[in-house]
Amino acid sequence: MHEMSLTEGVVRILEEQAATHGFTKVKTVWLEIGELSQVDPESMIFCFDAVTRGSDIAAGAKLEIVSVPGQAYCLDCADSVALAKRGDACPKCGGWALQVTAGGDMRIKELEVE
Ligand SMILES: [Zn+2]
Repeated sequence: MHEMSLTEGVVRILEEQAATHGFTKVKTVWLEIGELSQVDPESMIFCFDAVTRGSDIAAGAKLEIVSVPGQAYCLDCADSVALAKRGDACPKCGGWALQVTAGGDMRIKELEVE
């Protein structure tokens, strides 16, 4: 389950942000998870609860998952197309010359702090 180390990475970012911006408590974290990122939102929530318990900054914080649809650029169509999962062919031309342009990763979108 790689969500545990991903969650630890998120909490580390929260602690760095707290040090930089001078807040002491994170109340809510909005986390964007791309549909193509192979990150399981349910596992993230589970791990987040476990990991934040050991953090002064993030203890009791709420995790809000924002799902980001997968998108790719098809070199053959020279156009952006929707991509449901990695390894799928282009829905327009059936080709494989796709470059993922959105939904391929996970990032912190917004924080509510005090
Ligand atoms: Zn195409």
